[in-house]
Amino acid sequence: MRLILVGPPGAGKGTQAKRLVSQLNIPHVSSGDMFRAAIKNGTELGKQVQEIMKQGHLVPDEVTIKMVIARIKEDDCESGFMLDGFPRTRPQAEALDAALAADDLSLDAIVLIEAADEVIIERITGRRTAPKTGAIYHIKFNPPPEGVEVTQRADDTEEAVVQRMKKYHAETAPIIPFYEAKGLLKSVNGLQTPDQVTEDILSVLGVRKS
Ligand code: ADP
Ligand code: AMP
Repeated sequence: MRLILVGPPGAGKGTQAKRLVSQLNIPHVSSGDMFRAAIKNGTELGKQVQEIMKQGHLVPDEVTIKMVIARIKEDDCESGFMLDGFPRTRPQAEALDAALAADDLSLDAIVLIEAADEVIIERITGRRTAPKTGAIYHIKFNPPPEGVEVTQRADDTEEAVVQRMKKYHAETAPIIPFYEAKGLLKSVNGLQTPDQVTEDILSVLGVRKS
C-alpha cells in the first residue's frame, strides 16, 4: 500500500504512522526524521538544513524531493510505504506523482489528519521524543514512563510552530485539492484519542484491525 499522511504540524502524523506501519507492514518514511538524522550525524545535508528547520521554514524542494524519491526507490519500499511530512508543496506532490508514474506505480490513498490550530501549540510545545527508541510522548497527554530519557525538538518552540503553521496553510494545505480531485483523499478527526484516530484511519483505508 502506498500512502501519504498529511495534516498540520502536531496533528499526530508521526504518532499514527508508528502505530500503523506494523499493522500495514510497510516502512514509515518521514522526511522530518530523515533531516533530523542528517543533523545528528553531522552530514553535509544536515548542515544545510539545520538552521532552516530550527526556524520552522521549509527545506528547498529540490533537496527534499531528491532525498525522499531516492528513499522510496529502496528495496524495502517495493510493496509500499507510508509517507509522513512529504509532499508538503505542490512541486513535491507533482515530483512524487511523476516518479511513481515512471515506474507504473500510483498512490492508494492520502489520509488527512485534521486538527484545529488552537490545539497545535499545546501539542507541539509539550512534545518530547525518546532518542533511543524514537517514541513520541507528550508531557500532558502521553507522559514518558519514569526513567525514559526524552528530548525536545529544536523546532518545537512557540516561535517556530507559528512559522510552521503559516507554511502549512500557505504551501501544504493547497495540495489537498490536488489529491481530492484524484479521488484519493480520506479525512479523519485528529482531535480524538490516539486509539480512536488509528481506528478511523484503518476504517477509511478499509483495513481490518489484526
Ligand atoms: P506530527 O507528526 O503530526 O507533527 P506528532 O505525532 O509528533 O505530530 O504529535 C504531536 C504531539 O501531540 C506529540 O507530543 C504527541 O504525543 C501528541 N499527540 C499525538 N496525537 C495525539 C492525540 N490524538 N491526542 C493528544 N495528543 C496527541
Ligand atoms: P516534521 O518532522 O514533518 O514536523 O518536519 C520538521 C521540519 O523538517 C519542517 O518544519 C521542515 O523544516 C523540514 N521538512 C520536513 N519535511 C519537509 C518537506 N517535505 N519539505 C520541506 N521541508 C521539510
